[in-house]
Amino acid sequence: MALMITDECINCDVCEPECPNEAISMGPEIYMIDPNKCTECVGHFDTPQCVEVCPVECIPKNPDRVETQEELMEKFHHLQEQS
Ligand code: SF4
Ligand code: SF4
Repeated sequence: MALMITDECINCDVCEPECPNEAISMGPEIYMIDPNKCTECVGHFDTPQCVEVCPVECIPKNPDRVETQEELMEKFHHLQEQS
């Protein structure tokens, strides 16, 4: 699954630079995660780096983007080819 940022986000800016896939960006009001780029950090790290650093724990899994570990790894390889 991709992750998502809820409206509890306090715009602290710490997650954006931690994302290895550049999936996090500032939206109209709060930070957002592009589900097409978020691999839950699969391929880069053992744990989601944005979740590790978020001080208010507002980054749950995105229920609209259910993906298996294999699909996340495929997404990782696809993103690597594009970069
Ligand atoms: S889980 Fe990883 S890939 Fe997904 S938004 Fe967070 S830091 Fe980026
Ligand atoms: S770390 Fe959490 S609170 Fe800070 S900008 Fe990212 S999602 Fe928002």
